[in-house]
Amino acid sequence: MAAGQTKNAAARLFQAAELLRQASRAYAFTGAGVSTESGIPDFRAPGTGLWSNPELLSLATGDALRQDPVRFYSAFLPQWLRYRKAEPNPAHKALADLEAKGILSGVITQNIDGLHRKAGSQTVYEVHGHLRHLVCSDCCETANFEVAVAALQQGTLPPRCRCGGMLRPDVVLFGETMAPDFDRAMAELHQGCDVMLVVGSSLKVFPAASLVGFADCFIIINLEPTPLDHRAAVVIHGSAGDVMPRIAALVLSQ
Ligand code: NAD
Ligand code: ZN
Repeated sequence: MAAGQTKNAAARLFQAAELLRQASRAYAFTGAGVSTESGIPDFRAPGTGLWSNPELLSLATGDALRQDPVRFYSAFLPQWLRYRKAEPNPAHKALADLEAKGILSGVITQNIDGLHRKAGSQTVYEVHGHLRHLVCSDCCETANFEVAVAALQQGTLPPRCRCGGMLRPDVVLFGETMAPDFDRAMAELHQGCDVMLVVGSSLKVFPAASLVGFADCFIIINLEPTPLDHRAAVVIHGSAGDVMPRIAALVLSQ
């Protein structure tokens, strides 16, 4: 526990709210844990997480997509269709409220599910990409995501661009460079970030997690301990959907 961290749960909520209220440039940094209450499993969830399925994990690479795109798409498309149908939960909504009221300057997310935008967040950096469209591996044209759904239904995977090239999801796979939003987020943070609200991230996926290091101080909200808990100003072990609305209510009540 870092110096100044308090053991009392209610006091931690107040401390987090106070830090946010006093911040001049606060950002949220979110991971898969902010979306589990929307029905999307995180990487490490026992039984359902990607890491409990070694086949899926080995397929989540740029090489696997290039070597066997049909296998890649057959494995991931059903999951992504669930992501696209999911609805924001109270944690996404609380973050959007905090931005609308001028407390947060934006949300930096590792998630590809698009739920922050769906909840109303305006400034969202999707450092691992998103599922709003596909992009051609050859000519870089974009295409509607539904093209992949149609190809799955018609048995014509992988989806193809008008130029004949393979359409791929606009997400960052293992071994690939980060999405342009990663550099944009870093440039924003270089301008200053006095408080970072970290919600639902194991903080074990790099380089995304390195962005937290740009903040003068950070608050961690996560179900389980993270490797950076000892450096956080406030750590709250709880569910994002429960904790975030409470913090937002405290911040916005004054
Ligand atoms: P992670 O799976 O490594 O860790 C998620 C963390 O969230 C865990 O520490 C877990 O204890 C915590 N958590 C789970 N449910 C929670 C809840 N309701 N409230 C609070 N905490 C909760 O996720 P990560 O840190 O984002 O990194 C994994 C990678 O997985 C990311 O790169 C991300 O792109 C990708 N991913 C994204 C999605 C998505 O788009 N929703 C889903 C799965 C994985
Ligand atoms: Zn093309």
